[in-house]
Amino acid sequence: MEHVAVSPWVALAYLVSGVLFILALRGLSSPATSRAGNRYGMIGMTIAVATTLLTHEIASLPEILVALAIGGGIGFVIARKIAMTDMPQLVAAFHSLVGLAAVLVGLAAYLNPGAFGIMLPDGQINPVSRIELGLGIAIGAITFSGSVIAFLKLAGKMSGSPILLPGRHVLNLGTLIAIVGLVAYFTQDQSAWVIATITVLSFIIGFLLIIPIGGADMPVVVSMLNSYSGWAAAAMGFTLHNTAMIVTGALVGSSGAILSYIMCKAMNRGFLAVIAGGFGAEAAAGGGAAKEQRPWKRGSAEDAAYMMKEAENVIIIPGYGMAVSQAQHALREMGDVLKKEGVNVKYAIHPVAGRMPGHMNVLLAEANVPYDEVFELEDINSEFAQADVAFIIGANDVVNPAAKTDKSSPIYGMPVFDVDKAKTIFFVKRSMGGVGYAGVDNDVFYMDQTMMLLADAKKMVEDIVKALQH
Ligand code: NDP
Repeated sequence: MEHVAVSPWVALAYLVSGVLFILALRGLSSPATSRAGNRYGMIGMTIAVATTLLTHEIASLPEILVALAIGGGIGFVIARKIAMTDMPQLVAAFHSLVGLAAVLVGLAAYLNPGAFGIMLPDGQINPVSRIELGLGIAIGAITFSGSVIAFLKLAGKMSGSPILLPGRHVLNLGTLIAIVGLVAYFTQDQSAWVIATITVLSFIIGFLLIIPIGGADMPVVVSMLNSYSGWAAAAMGFTLHNTAMIVTGALVGSSGAILSYIMCKAMNRGFLAVIAGGFGAEAAAGGGAAKEQRPWKRGSAEDAAYMMKEAENVIIIPGYGMAVSQAQHALREMGDVLKKEGVNVKYAIHPVAGRMPGHMNVLLAEANVPYDEVFELEDINSEFAQADVAFIIGANDVVNPAAKTDKSSPIYGMPVFDVDKAKTIFFVKRSMGGVGYAGVDNDVFYMDQTMMLLADAKKMVEDIVKALQH
């Protein structure tokens, strides 16, 4: 059991890295401190990795360096190439790797318990370690297959609509109970068939749990899988007697769970209802419902420039389309010009705007939009009644009033911006046909006070800036 007796220096180093991770999370909770937060996280991770490498004879140094070079190289290339809008599927893919790593570590510990310090003198695996192993493998396998499905759905390689198997609740519950029962039985019988069955059933349940979840609930799924990957790492931390892993895993697990809860609240969805799945099935069955031909008005960059210059209050609502066209810099320039004209400009950010939590905040921060001009849904929604212009740019679902009125809509119940209360609405998107993530039509297009600005978001904003400067 040589790994259990940890030197006090190692314990201290892990404690320091744990504290740095907590400071990192704290820093990341506000845009103003997020850079410092990131730095704390990097220092903490460097200390944790260096300590582990220096004190554990897990492999020879050349082997570790080769593995680091291969993994780091692949990560570097992917991070350089990935478009910001593809981040959610990348995050899902990375979670799957965490899950798979937990399964592999668990199986390695099962096959070679002596090396992991979990073997009793009689050659059996310590029963407490068997629970940690069983749970770690189970959570890891669920994280793996669930994340693969989430990746396929988010990347559009698999239909985003829920796939509903008959009797799925009974099937899922039965499988989960069987896994828990087998983990308990594993403490009595460490035969290979027990651990193999736990692994296979967990892979299956991860798959079954995610396929019935519809596209509209995917943000919550990604953050939930993030949480699972943390718990899988924490469970493996117990197996490896590595406190840094336990602390980090628990931090990731609990912060992911808190984020999932916040997102559920933002979308007005019960957490259990999301897990049970099936949301968005109606929209999928209806094929998006035949679109009516309703009258709508087309505006120009000059119209928008003129109206906004005359306005007292303008609220800008960015969404996924702003990210696609990378319009944030042009948008900030537009805001600057308007402010010089004496217009009061605010940015309204919905918690699920874009394709990942904080997506809009990151882009606006990148374009140096001042933090005090950026507002959350609940802080700004009452101000639309006083707004002269609501400028919607690449957002769609987050301003769809069907969420408030149409019970059959896949986004019903999600709080949305009350843009319909603004005097004038400008709606920037490329075409009337293009729908948002949830795939539904939007009544705002056809409102009396709405003017559609049909163009690529960046191009349209650049044209508005030009028109403003004339
Ligand atoms: P939506 O996906 O509802 O709408 C995007 C809009 O952008 C569309 O109307 C599209 O219309 C337009 N658009 C796309 N490209 C461009 C472009 N180049 N220039 C101008 N417009 C463009 O975005 P929202 O941000 O309003 O909503 C987010 C949705 O994504 C929600 O349903 C949310 O649940 C979901 N989601 C959110 C995640 C998160 O964590 N934030 C993760 C996964 C999903 P057109 O094609 O006509 O241009």
